[in-house]
Amino acid sequence: MFVPELPEVEVVRRGLAENVEGRGVTAVEVHHTRAVRRHLAGPADFVGRLEGRRLVAAWRRGKYLWLELDGGSDAVLAHLGMSGQLLVQPAGVPDGAHLRVRLRLDDGNELRFVDQRTFGGLSVEELVGGAPGAPSVPAPVAHIARDPFDPEYELESAVAAIRRRTTGLKRALLDQTVVSGIGNIYADEALWQARLHWARPTATLDRPAARRVLTAAAAVMVRALGEGGTSFDSLYVDVNGRSGYFDRSLAVYGRAGEPCPRCGSPVRRDSFMNRSSFSCPRCQPLPRRPHW
Ligand SMILES: [Zn+2]
Repeated sequence: MFVPELPEVEVVRRGLAENVEGRGVTAVEVHHTRAVRRHLAGPADFVGRLEGRRLVAAWRRGKYLWLELDGGSDAVLAHLGMSGQLLVQPAGVPDGAHLRVRLRLDDGNELRFVDQRTFGGLSVEELVGGAPGAPSVPAPVAHIARDPFDPEYELESAVAAIRRRTTGLKRALLDQTVVSGIGNIYADEALWQARLHWARPTATLDRPAARRVLTAAAAVMVRALGEGGTSFDSLYVDVNGRSGYFDRSLAVYGRAGEPCPRCGSPVRRDSFMNRSSFSCPRCQPLPRRPHW
């Protein structure tokens, strides 16, 4: 199971910024109502709110992505879920089997939301916030913490937020209200970089250790972004249908039994929240009182 993480979503955002910013929406088709279920006023309202509008900017916070609409008071919010794709394709390209929503654009291209498993979807949301100097965000995104790619992200606030939690370190890293955008893959890579066990209780984490793991998470995500993201799953693609190749650079994630790149010990896989945690048993020893 592969869930897109921050670098993968940022790759999609950049593609949207290049390919659809400034374009007018001439027509909208909803092919599967489940894909717009988060738009509570229903599919007809979704279509009515979009037709004739202009897509002015592509934004992201954590793994949430939205296209601001002209007027600046609302936006199309995309949830990619586990298999959602936003593709920009010329109108003549045949539809795939899992096309859920089509936005026809005024340049002859289409923005297509394709989703095999239909966990993702689109909705039109009001923008909230907008305090002086603070950007507006769609209401469902308001509780999401800033991510390390955000110019307003502050390492020391994230360090404080993580140390306030009473949980295991990896759970805290995955908590989108502490710092957003870190998922299973980059959490494991950051913990390995920082030589910290995933079940380390956050209460025992000193400030330098918290800084180390958060800095490592940001660094590994920046490197992943430079390589187009990580893709274990052919479903994850950029707006042009290409997948990234950062998975070749991962130190421990998905490498159970292979040698740790630092010390050569075989990488260990533990079960964690119905998924897996990969770590080095020597570089990341089990803490005395683990918080599973
Ligand atoms: Zn090691």
